[in-house]
Amino acid sequence: MEDFKYFKYMQDIHSDVREKLNQSLKSVLQMKVTDQDVKRTISKIDNNEALDYSDYYILLSDNAMNFMDELSEISRKLRYQYFGNNVYLFSPLYIANYCENSCKYCGFRAKSDIIRARLNLDEIENEMIQLRDEKIEDVLILTGESEKFSSVDYICDSVRLAKKYFKSVGIEIYPVNVDDYKKLHEAGCDFVTVFQETYNPVNYKFYHPTGHKSSLPYRFDTQERALMAGMRAVGFGALFGLSDPIEDCFCLGVHAMLIQKKYPHAEISISFPRIRPTKGAESLNIKEVSEKKLMQFIIATRIFLPFAQITISTRESKDFRDLSLAYATTKISASVDTGIGRRNDEKDKGDEQFLINDTRTVSDVERDLKNINMYPVYSDYIDVE
Ligand code: SF4
Repeated sequence: MEDFKYFKYMQDIHSDVREKLNQSLKSVLQMKVTDQDVKRTISKIDNNEALDYSDYYILLSDNAMNFMDELSEISRKLRYQYFGNNVYLFSPLYIANYCENSCKYCGFRAKSDIIRARLNLDEIENEMIQLRDEKIEDVLILTGESEKFSSVDYICDSVRLAKKYFKSVGIEIYPVNVDDYKKLHEAGCDFVTVFQETYNPVNYKFYHPTGHKSSLPYRFDTQERALMAGMRAVGFGALFGLSDPIEDCFCLGVHAMLIQKKYPHAEISISFPRIRPTKGAESLNIKEVSEKKLMQFIIATRIFLPFAQITISTRESKDFRDLSLAYATTKISASVDTGIGRRNDEKDKGDEQFLINDTRTVSDVERDLKNINMYPVYSDYIDVE
């Protein structure tokens, strides 16, 4: 029996989504997927029949790897049908790295021996001006998960500042209640992303032993609370390598699908990060997810959720990102620095959360996208008051 608890200050919205996800996982785990199953799912796609969650599980299976040429082509067509050759560019902005959680795989965790920092509003504005000068119009503000050092008021002030320079402002912060999401929305934020990391409850408990993140159900309901507060878009992610990757990817896609069904107006965005090396977590027994398997996950998800934005992380190499853009992904970050305040300061203010693989600037990314016949989109937003 699960013993996850809501802390006293955590709002329980009594959502039915997690129960539905658990039921669907239970039923697919009884399946023994065969090549015939994969062929049947492909013929459903060919006949424009709706796919259900068991089709998604089939597309994620090892058997489906034998049909990757066919599946890649289906995914490529859907990507162009719904998004053309557009690639949406954004940049993350790390403004603090204090954290009260203790995720065993992360260099920002409480009590880890890293340099902590929190930028003041002048420093944040300087970083924003630099990103704006690089043409960025969509920014994602990140803090570690510490309400004490990065309060909702501090994040609201940062969001208000960001609205001076960017058309779309998103946040990746600790999960909060609906009222706080309302304040952040009023300040100008329209996108909230939170990674569930792993959907497996046993591993979730192991990797997140203390802090507010140890409450799995509160984190799971984050996207719903954000949408209830009026946010336009929500992002989902699992950190591949913490648990059985097929199960985690299945839960990630079905979680996003259930939220899309319940909130049809919401823009859904999905990320596929794999664990990267980080200070102090080198000895963890992480499950290997090959590039080939990751590409299969991305392609299966594009087929299952044709309208969803799919983000490809700078944790991956330029070549892998380019290939994924051609077949399935639509959103890419550029000019990424996971350290704190390094854009405008020679010295490091705060250590980085993880090591990135693709270090290209915005103009490098723009040039490289054009070289592969993709169209960089900085914003498709028109602000109407
Ligand atoms: S993953 Fe996020 S919540 Fe966990 S320790 Fe790192 S910054 Fe904190």
